[in-house]
Amino acid sequence: MQFKDVIGQETLKKHLLKSVKEGRIPHAHLLWESEGYGAFPLALAYAQYLNCHHRTETDSCGECPSCRQFSNLAHPDLHFIFPFAADKPQDARCDQMLPTWREFVKAQPYFGLRQWMAYTGETTKKGMIYSNESEVLLSKLQLKSYEADYKTILIWLPETMNASCSNKLLKILEEPPAGTVFLLVSEHPEQLLQTVVSRTQMLRVGPVDAESMSQHFSPEIVHLAGGSVTQARQLVGDEGENRAYFELYRQLMNCVVTKNLVALKSWSEQLAGSGREQIAGFLEYAQHLTREAFIRNLNNEQLSYYNPYENEFLQKFMRCIHTGNIERVSEEWTRAHREIGQNANSKLVLFDLGLQLLTQIKL
Ligand SMILES: [Zn+2]
Repeated sequence: MQFKDVIGQETLKKHLLKSVKEGRIPHAHLLWESEGYGAFPLALAYAQYLNCHHRTETDSCGECPSCRQFSNLAHPDLHFIFPFAADKPQDARCDQMLPTWREFVKAQPYFGLRQWMAYTGETTKKGMIYSNESEVLLSKLQLKSYEADYKTILIWLPETMNASCSNKLLKILEEPPAGTVFLLVSEHPEQLLQTVVSRTQMLRVGPVDAESMSQHFSPEIVHLAGGSVTQARQLVGDEGENRAYFELYRQLMNCVVTKNLVALKSWSEQLAGSGREQIAGFLEYAQHLTREAFIRNLNNEQLSYYNPYENEFLQKFMRCIHTGNIERVSEEWTRAHREIGQNANSKLVLFDLGLQLLTQIKL
C-alpha cells in the first residue's frame, strides 16, 4: 500500500511524511476514524514508507524488496492483530487467520468489521481480539527485527480486545521496545483504556473529501456515502444486502404503525437470529432511511438516487417522520446499535426498539 493508493486524506499524509522527514517517529499512533474513511490503508502506507529503501519525498518506491513484501502483507517485521471469531477462544491466535486476512486485505483495503466477519464465514459470533494475543505479541517483540528499520505492529479495532489483553498491551506501551512502531486503528477510542490512549499520538481521520471520492464514484454515491469508501462500495455493489435491509425496515414499520405486538415479537426474533454484525448493518441502514424520510417530508422533494422500491415506500412513509419525532427516533436507532455492540440480548433490544418506535411513529 502506497500513499498514492489512499483516497484523499492529503493533510494526514503530509503530516506523516513530515514527521518521518524530521525523524520524529512516535512509538505509537492511534488513528481514529469512522468505518471507511481510510485509517487502515493509511496506516499500512505509513508502515511501508517507514521501511522503504528508496523512499521519495512523497511516497514509498513500491519496488524495493521491502515494498514488495509490504504489498504482499508478508514482510517479516509487519505484524497484524485483528478481531475474529474463534471456536476455541483459549487457543485463538490471529496468526491462524493470517492467510485469510492477507487475501481479504489485499483484495480491498477499505473494509469494516462486518465485511471481514462475513469473509471469514462467520455471521453469528462477534469478532474479538482474544487474550492469547498479548503473549504472542510479547514473544514477537523479543525477536530481533529481521531486516526492517522498524518492527510494525498494526492493531485493527483494539476496542475489541479482551480486557486482560489490553492491560498487557498497556504495559508494553508504557515501556515501548526500541525500533517498534505501534499503529492502532480504532473506530471507538472511547472504549479503549484511557491509559492506552494517552500513550499514543492520536490522529483523527475524518471523512474523505468529496473531490477525492468523486474520482472513484458517481456524484449520487458520493453524496450518500458521507466520505466513507466502504459505504460507497456498498451502495454501488451490494444490492442484495440493501434489499434485505429494506424488507426488514418495511416489516418493522408495518408492525409499528399497526401496533401489532405479535408481529413485532416475531420480527425481533427473526432478526435476532441473524448475528450482531448483520443487525448493526440493518440499524445503520434504518437510521439512514429514516433521515431520508424526514428530509423528504421537510422539502417534499424526491431524490433520484434511491432504488425504486425505496422511493415508492418513502413516498407514503415520509409523513410519519417529522420535526416532532425525528430526534427521538434517531436516538432509538443509535441506542439499539450501541447495545447490540455491547453484547446485550439482541431479541430484547430489538423488541424494545419496536416498542419505543411504536410510541413515536404514527400514521
Ligand atoms: Zn520501497
